[in-house]
This record gives sequence, structure tokens and C-alpha cells, in this order.
Amino acid sequence: MSFKHKNVLAVCTLATLATISFSAAAADSRDSVCSNPLQRICNDTLAQRKERDVYVSKLKNEIAQEAGINAAPRIDQMRKKIRPYRFIKRFLETTKIRNQEIMSSAKKRISGFEEVVTNPENVNKIKNYMYQAIDTSTFDLTTKEKFKNVIQTIVVGNFSDFLEKSDLENNVLAQMLGNACGSDGLIDNAFATTLKGERYVLICPGFLITLNQAASASDRFNSILQAISHEMGHHIDNSKVGNELYAPYLSCLAKNYSDRFTKTKEDEKFCKANAKDPVKCNVQVALSHAGELIADQWGIRTTVVHVSSEALSSADTDQMLTDSWAKLCGTGDEGIHPTGDFRIGSLMRKNPGISGYLSCLSTETDAKPACTFAGESAM
Ligand SMILES: [Zn+2]
Repeated sequence: MSFKHKNVLAVCTLATLATISFSAAAADSRDSVCSNPLQRICNDTLAQRKERDVYVSKLKNEIAQEAGINAAPRIDQMRKKIRPYRFIKRFLETTKIRNQEIMSSAKKRISGFEEVVTNPENVNKIKNYMYQAIDTSTFDLTTKEKFKNVIQTIVVGNFSDFLEKSDLENNVLAQMLGNACGSDGLIDNAFATTLKGERYVLICPGFLITLNQAASASDRFNSILQAISHEMGHHIDNSKVGNELYAPYLSCLAKNYSDRFTKTKEDEKFCKANAKDPVKCNVQVALSHAGELIADQWGIRTTVVHVSSEALSSADTDQMLTDSWAKLCGTGDEGIHPTGDFRIGSLMRKNPGISGYLSCLSTETDAKPACTFAGESAM
């Protein structure tokens, strides 16, 4: 949604990347992120992902049922105090109560439920990785400082606490926020938003429920890293800092990959009107996806900092990438988010940091170049 916002409230939904811890043994040992990323990340894990989805949806149902029962009398109580014409206030209070009950039902069932995102150590670690991802980029010094200052101010928190703290009454955009996590809070999502000048990365209860099925603390961290840094990246994407800074990256994508992106209705119109200039059309289509492409690139760069600073083995890196990207398998392109196939198989796999760290051979992928913030990069 990062292109639709015209107001103070920029909400970006992310097809979240949560934890699915797949045992390496179950995957065909011949497939790797290098040799065949989609096979390794999506196909080899299909059965496990299905099994896990069944488990998570059962858990969500249980939580939703209990939360619904506990929320009902509180909502009735609230309705006695707030008059019907104050429908936005009522909507917000209902959302708050539902989210609180979802959180408390989830806490009863899942140990260390919120820990992974509320633990300041984890948040600081991700911010430090982001600073390094920025420092090792080719942006000029002033831009780097600006980006780091933005990242520093971001508040990472859960949606429930945010609703509690924020006074959104009479703000029609509150509706958008309510929808970001679903009316029952169970949509598996995280998003970036700015409200009253404060920058947030917010985590929906549904995201935490899905996340906390992972076995170890390090698995959990691995799985939030890409998602949180992607969302942090939205605070320094082209909608916030302009297209110019990202021109080398976006031009590279427009030139080499625009056929991989779906056109929005506006793009279709634009391309028809500019039928004589296909380059213009390609740029337009890439621009529609720019926010997501930029956020993904920040997420990928942050992941590279993580694997190098922890000196992860190739096998552990392969596993970590599988855990953190499998969520995007089979996701479509609505004109804003590129397909999961593109994000996994091209953007992530071709990134020189990833392919370099894993010592991938250039013959393992197509001949198209990798696109980085610096522009076209040989594999
Ligand atoms: Zn996004």
C-alpha cells in the first residue's frame, strides 16, 4: 500500500516473512539456495509448510474463540459508555479490546510470546545491522547519516500496545490501521507507519502467533530479521526520500526485469499513452513496485550483515534463508509487491552479498544482472 498513501498515515502491508523451521534433512540435499532457490525454499518445504499451516490455523481458531468470548462483555460495556454516533471511537475501542484479548489468549498458549519483537536486544541488533547495511552501501555520507538517523528513531512494537497509546479518535485513517491486522488481529502481518511524526514498525498479533512456533531463540531471530528490516526499509524508501537516490537500482530493475512485474490499472493507461516509448513504460511499472523492491533490498542487505557477523556456515545460511523466505512462496503481484518467485529467485538469490557469501556459481542462475543500490552488478 505504500503508493496509495497521501496522508500522515503511511501503511505498508507486507506479506510477512515468519518462521517456518524446516529441517535440512527433509530437503533434497542436492537443492540449495544457490543451485535452485525456488526448489529449495518453496518446493522441498511444501509438505512441511502445509502441515504447519494446519497447526497454526487450529491454534488461531482456538485463540480467536476464547478471545471472542472474553471480549464480548467488554465490548457491551464499552457501548454503554460511548454513544452510537461516535462510531469511529467505537470502532477503535472494539479493535483495542479484541486485540488485547487475542494477545492475552495467545500469551496463555505460547511461551515467550512477544519476546522476540519486544526484547530491546533484538531490536537493537537489527538496528545495528541496518546501520552497517547503510554504511557499506554506496550512498553519499550525508545520505547515510540521514538514513541512520531515521532508523534510530523507529519504534518497533506490537499493534496492541500501539492502539493503546495512540489517540486516533476522529482519524478516519484509523480504519486502515484496524484493517492492517484484521478486525480480529489475526492477519499474519507487520507494517510500517508514521503517525504524528513518529515512525513505527508494528507487529500484528497474528504475526507473533505464527512466529513463535519456531524452536529456538536464534530461529525466531532469524525469521524476524528479514521482515523487520524490510519494514524499517520502508521508512527510507523512495516514497520518503524521493526516487533520485534510488535511481541506479530502479533503472536496473526497469531495464532488466520490468517484464516480471504486473501493471496496475494506472500503469496500463500510462503505457498505452506512451506506446511509442517502451522504456518509459518499463520505468513506470518498476516505479509502482519501487517501495517494495527497496524495502526488500534493505532486508537482504541486513541479512547479509547478519550471516557475516555471525559467521554462519553455508548450510546454516541456506536454512536461514529458507526459513525467512518460504512465506513468500507462490505470492502474487498485485501491482505493488513483486511475485514471491521474483523476490526469492531473482532479487534475493542474485544479490552479490548472498551469492558471494554462499560462493554461488554464476552458471546456477540466468544471465541477467543483479540489481543493487549501486546499479547493475555482475553476479
Ligand atoms: Zn513492504
